[in-house]
Amino acid sequence: MSASDNSDYGDGTRLVGAGRQPAWTGTADHPGAVVNPPVFRASTHLYPDMAALRAHPANEDGRFYYGRRGAPTQWALASALTELEPGATGTVLYPSGVSAIAGALLTVLRPGDVLLMTDNAYEPSRVMGRGFLRDFGVETRWFDSTDAAAFEAAICGRTRAVLLESPGSLTMEVQDVPALSAIAKARGLTVVLDNTWASPLGFPALSHGADISVMSLTKHVGGHSDAMMGSASAGPDWYRKLRLRAQGMGIVVAPDDASLMLRGLRTMKLRLAHETASALAIAQWLEARPEVARVLCPMLPGSPGHELWLRDFTGGCGLFSFVLKGGTSAARDALIDALALFGIGYSWGGFESLATPVDPAPIRTASAWPLPGMAQGDLFGVRLSIGLEDTADLIADLERGLAAWQGATR
Ligand SMILES: *Cc1c(COP(=O)(O)O)cnc(C)c1O
Repeated sequence: MSASDNSDYGDGTRLVGAGRQPAWTGTADHPGAVVNPPVFRASTHLYPDMAALRAHPANEDGRFYYGRRGAPTQWALASALTELEPGATGTVLYPSGVSAIAGALLTVLRPGDVLLMTDNAYEPSRVMGRGFLRDFGVETRWFDSTDAAAFEAAICGRTRAVLLESPGSLTMEVQDVPALSAIAKARGLTVVLDNTWASPLGFPALSHGADISVMSLTKHVGGHSDAMMGSASAGPDWYRKLRLRAQGMGIVVAPDDASLMLRGLRTMKLRLAHETASALAIAQWLEARPEVARVLCPMLPGSPGHELWLRDFTGGCGLFSFVLKGGTSAARDALIDALALFGIGYSWGGFESLATPVDPAPIRTASAWPLPGMAQGDLFGVRLSIGLEDTADLIADLERGLAAWQGATR
């Protein structure tokens, strides 16, 4: 979808206006009659006559054609996401974040290629590397994204692309995306970035060097834990290729889900601001606790890549991890079970807080765990997704959890 120009406004203003076209929110005699685009549940799109069918442009955005090409509900969301990502010409929507990553990689890679993937990538991304990408003749190699020299050394004649994710999943290291992208570009690589954590509000990915910016909309954009979707935004060349590949694979999202995503999008700035401030306060509180060995939160001084976060990011979110000082897996279970306000569940970015265990050791292959500077016994991590509850209540809840951990550790 092409972007209308509201790029001079602040994020809040842009979020309110993004993707709103009067033609999509009204009728021919009253364009813009309602605020939100209706939910167009449509597989068939009708043509008034044969001449109109024959004159229809072959494959253009924002034109009724057939259900798989979407209708105004999906177009409004894609268009809104394009407007929010500086440098993007268009956005392709996918039924989940995982399918957006797969869609981007299947657009970029060919049999015989090597993909470099950050060692702290989201686990399903890793599974693609040793799963279907391998079946299709693509070799994936993992690298330590905190080491630019190691990244450069890992590039070979067959390397086609790199998958970055900043901060990385679970251990939250912020990457030097501009530096890694500059190396990648100089060697002719395409840079795909999983930007789910920051969203374009916190990290405009394309203007920091990424060619394709991928998000799981399931997290911050939806924000209410009731719908799944993913997106890939890019400049003209990659957008055209992403779109054709997605069309070829029959990718389409439901209008009902697109409508939920648009609803979530309007309040995203407020939710992220609250969650970021609350997460930082909780991270600082945890850091001062004797039970805690390390807090891995990009907004917190001393966390891996915090200086890069300060330099490159304009915002954060509520997702971070902390590592307990020694202890056992069972003691960590006792901690999480003792929490009343944190749900136990995967996903994140919803209005409700969540806690899950973090065990990076069996996942990583190119970087150490525990992190340098941590004791060998400091293995058991907890990931928190801070929601919209009051910070003081969450801290009191965590205090109960740490008491349960103490009890189970003694
Ligand atoms: C959750 C997540 C995804 C996948 O999103 P789904 O919508 O659940 O498929 C991708 N990347 C990161 C970093 C995630 O946390």
